[in-house]
Amino acid sequence: MERFCTDPAQVIGRFAPSPTGPLHTGSLVAAVGSWLMAKRAGGQWLLRIDDLDGPRCRQEFEDDILRTLERFGLCWDGAITRQRDNSAAYAGAFERLRELGAVYPCGCSRAEIARSASAPHPGEEIPYPGSCRSGLPAGREPRAWRLRTAGVEVAFDDLRHGRITTELERSGDFVVKRAEGFFAYQLAVVVDDHLSGVNQVVRGDDLLDSTPRQVWLHQLLGWPLPAYCHLPLVTAPDGGKLSKRDAAVSLADGRLTGKESELLGWALDFLGLAVPDALRGADCAELLNWAREACYPSKCIGR
Ligand code: GLU
Repeated sequence: MERFCTDPAQVIGRFAPSPTGPLHTGSLVAAVGSWLMAKRAGGQWLLRIDDLDGPRCRQEFEDDILRTLERFGLCWDGAITRQRDNSAAYAGAFERLRELGAVYPCGCSRAEIARSASAPHPGEEIPYPGSCRSGLPAGREPRAWRLRTAGVEVAFDDLRHGRITTELERSGDFVVKRAEGFFAYQLAVVVDDHLSGVNQVVRGDDLLDSTPRQVWLHQLLGWPLPAYCHLPLVTAPDGGKLSKRDAAVSLADGRLTGKESELLGWALDFLGLAVPDALRGADCAELLNWAREACYPSKCIGR
């Protein structure tokens, strides 16, 4: 499993949408933010379709995402990759984890794990209680495979949040191979990023909780860590508009409606780049060219 990129000086970023729906305001910010961070460094910006979750992924959504990116002038480098083509690589990484004794089979159902939780807060992930950590209880069939996290402390630097240190065990041993036989997102994303030489991961804060797990997987597999940057989430608790430039963006359902250049201007503004008056009315290509020069991490991601 060799990295395609051997030049460590070259930034390789990526955007990895899941084709479970059209791009929305949050994914536009992730796309623009990751494009800017790669392009300002003269790097490449790869596009990967995260279609691991078979039943929820649809070709029409993938087509729609590609068309939308093109309309914004967000051109990707090289060929598009798809997770559905990568199962052999996931299996290879999984075997390595097995050899290391880092994973174990778990026979618990979701309902059993939910019952074991004392008082989970709404929306919070229920930590796995570790029932099968020292072996499958008698009469149990293995369902999923989990990664051991006991005693693991992970630290990494995020370009926006700074140093983040996490005791992995607090969120419990996590699934790397699902009961249905699919490899889980946490493992897949690490293998994908490594295989395509990605050394810069820029995405939304919604994935910040996943990053320590992915860092630990990179470390176990002996792979270099990418740089991480987690961007602020687009939220509008009142369902209202976000900023002065929001005429173009309806946040009621997070859908992208309106003229591309206005939406792009809104996304740049959201990322902390105030588009100058001289560029009002500019098209997407002009805005992106300007933003590439104007984006410094401290400014661009400093919200
Ligand atoms: N496919 C994931 C999503 O759409 C993003 C994965 C990632 O950026 O690591 O939420």
